[in-house]
Amino acid sequence: MRKIGALEGGGTKMVLAVFTEDGQELERISMPTETPDVTMPKMIEFFRRHEVDALGVASFGPVDLHKDSPTYGSITTTPKLAWANYPILEKLLDGRDIPAGFDTDVNAAAIAEVELGAARGCQNAVYVTIGTGIGAGIYCNGQSISGLLHPETGHILLKPHPDDPNPRGVCPYHESCLEGLAAGPAIGARVQGDARDLPDDHPTFQIEAYYLAQMCVNLILTVSPEKIVLGGGVMQRESLLKMVRKETQRLLGGYVASPMITEKIDEYIVTPELYPVSGLIGAYLVGKKALENA
Ligand code: ADP
Ligand code: ZN
Repeated sequence: MRKIGALEGGGTKMVLAVFTEDGQELERISMPTETPDVTMPKMIEFFRRHEVDALGVASFGPVDLHKDSPTYGSITTTPKLAWANYPILEKLLDGRDIPAGFDTDVNAAAIAEVELGAARGCQNAVYVTIGTGIGAGIYCNGQSISGLLHPETGHILLKPHPDDPNPRGVCPYHESCLEGLAAGPAIGARVQGDARDLPDDHPTFQIEAYYLAQMCVNLILTVSPEKIVLGGGVMQRESLLKMVRKETQRLLGGYVASPMITEKIDEYIVTPELYPVSGLIGAYLVGKKALENA
């Protein structure tokens, strides 16, 4: 049985695993994301030791997904400066000529949730992680989306809530963007504390639901997904999901008349089935596809 190496590369940690072609996980390790000098040799050694036949990489971004670009497989303009313009895919391959697939962490997670998780059977679906940052993977007609760059839904611009004490948000690039208003650190900045420590009925979660619902509305109106999967640390707060569903219905104002929204929103905006390994399993699927197409 051929083996597929999978990497979910995150800004804080790297998760690596080896799978058989049919999806049995053989070994998984994780390590903090330090500088490439420290982290890369350990990752290369892991995949080399397992003699993987293909590699799938799901990376934090922004990344270059253009197959014909000289910097394909690189992390590009990340604020994590040690990894900026870093050719992570080429370095991981370490001179080995094996099939490799490469996508964003959230695109890979979207693929995984469609093929094996909460969005099974969908032709179009969105996976969003709401954690230290916010990112969305968009799956459309059988594949993840990239184009000029790849979706950067975390930075869409939103309308601030009238009661938000910090309506500019905390993104260094944008005024009132989604990530700057609604990622975990934005909640923390708003309450001058830690989002995890707040009671479910803290008023900041109504503000949070308003922002996540604006995101859902914008996704529904542009991408028309058959399912929206919301993952990441902030969604660990179960009470928030119900609030986001309700607020999405309210903001849409009945305009999108699908029963999935008007009646069955509990089945429409859902949490991931593969959390917290949606991205890792997505990396395996991307590697498997590369192997099958080789
Ligand atoms: P990362 O995005 O770095 O992979 P996570 O997805 O685990 O990490 O998200 C971490 C963020 O989620 C932190 O900002 C944390 O405050 C927030 N978070 C975790 N649990 C909760 C919770 N129960 N309620 C609100 N925020 C939470
Ligand atoms: Zn931003």
